[in-house]
Amino acid sequence: MNCRAYSRTHSVETRSRFEVVRITEMVESVVRESGIREGYVLVFVPHATAAVATNEYEPRIVEDYISWVRRVIPPGAGWRHDEIDDNAHAHIASLLIGQSRILPVSEGRVLRGTWQEILLLEFDGPRRRSVVIQVCGT
Ligand code: ZN
Repeated sequence: MNCRAYSRTHSVETRSRFEVVRITEMVESVVRESGIREGYVLVFVPHATAAVATNEYEPRIVEDYISWVRRVIPPGAGWRHDEIDDNAHAHIASLLIGQSRILPVSEGRVLRGTWQEILLLEFDGPRRRSVVIQVCGT
């Protein structure tokens, strides 16, 4: 594919230590601006204590995502990194969930399922987070 690239960086202010922010509309608007019809979009956070995922955004499941992270990777559970930075759980959650996702773009739209919102996951907020959105295609 002869690829044309279009890239934008937006920022998101998170308000609490753990938070799930829906960024679907932000990503879809960059795809529309790009004019790219066929290709893919990369969503990336240049941060070591946040993550990007696609899944349902509904208040109870959002609480469940956070509960799951707290249970599996409890903050302050004797992690070595906490000796210097007090956020080891956030690094590990970011490592496991991942700092980027790639979604297909077809007919100028992001291809996603009904329950697949694009989510920024904050594990060490509140902070100002950058979201890099890169569309590539024709
Ligand atoms: Zn750290």
